[in-house]
Amino acid sequence: MLPRAKKRLGQNFLVDETYARRIVGALAPRAGETVLEIGPGRGALTSPLVESGARVVAVEFDRGLVAPLRSRFAERENFTLVEADALEVEFCSVIEPDASARVVANLPYNISTAILQRLIERRRCVSEMVLMLQREVVARITAPPGSTERGYLTVIVEAYCEAEALFDVPPGAFRPVPKVWSTVARLRARAGGPEVGDERLLWRVVSAGFAQRRKTILNNLRAAPGDLRARVEAVGGAATLLEAAGIEPARRAETLALDEWVAVTRALEGPPSVRRVQD
Ligand code: SAM
Repeated sequence: MLPRAKKRLGQNFLVDETYARRIVGALAPRAGETVLEIGPGRGALTSPLVESGARVVAVEFDRGLVAPLRSRFAERENFTLVEADALEVEFCSVIEPDASARVVANLPYNISTAILQRLIERRRCVSEMVLMLQREVVARITAPPGSTERGYLTVIVEAYCEAEALFDVPPGAFRPVPKVWSTVARLRARAGGPEVGDERLLWRVVSAGFAQRRKTILNNLRAAPGDLRARVEAVGGAATLLEAAGIEPARRAETLALDEWVAVTRALEGPPSVRRVQD
């Protein structure tokens, strides 16, 4: 018998096969390619994935689900189960000998954005992802400039991926039935990254910009944490920095597009020759 669903592991299992096939269909796995599945659970997505002939590497954290998964797919040579925490496992290593894989997952809601950020960090070995996320999270990661849904995660996704919402999945497609709707999204890794000297500086600027959503970009940058504030002051202060970047200081962070965050960061870094010296 299968163990009961564990809430703390975000276990809402997909029981509607039509949606399982639509999700795997959105990935369209090819025989022989490596597909990484995070949180296979009771195998709703794993089954059509294995049927496709793709080499499936599945990472599951719940010990109670590992044995049933192993016995269900025991005969399948194209299935490998890795018992590990998706917040710690090295994605690039588990897919070896392949250097790159595509990912499919119905992510546990409580840690979905943390896993998404880890996958983006490992984009050198993750070319495309088809992910089921809480509908609000997909609205957030696809929010255009000016939308109140826009935040730090939106800008990260925009910098490194092309993201599109594919279709919604109602609560009734899961057991236990969640309180929220889900949306399936596709994220494709972009070649290259944002054009700044130091990407960590960009993320500190974005984070400081969104620190207090009701404040203007000017006031948030003025209140930036310690060492970032020192850098802002070193270029003449937040107003001078924004002027150099061509950003109206009364704007709020949610109105800035990625290239405007890049402009602020570049203005903070100084001319390219200075940037190289700092690197
Ligand atoms: N893929 C299955 C489905 O669609 O029915 C299960 C999806 S369920 C929303 C999330 C799955 O992720 C569960 O199997 C859960 O045990 C697993 N999980 C939760 N936390 C995890 C973690 N840190 N690392 C790996 N898997 C995790």
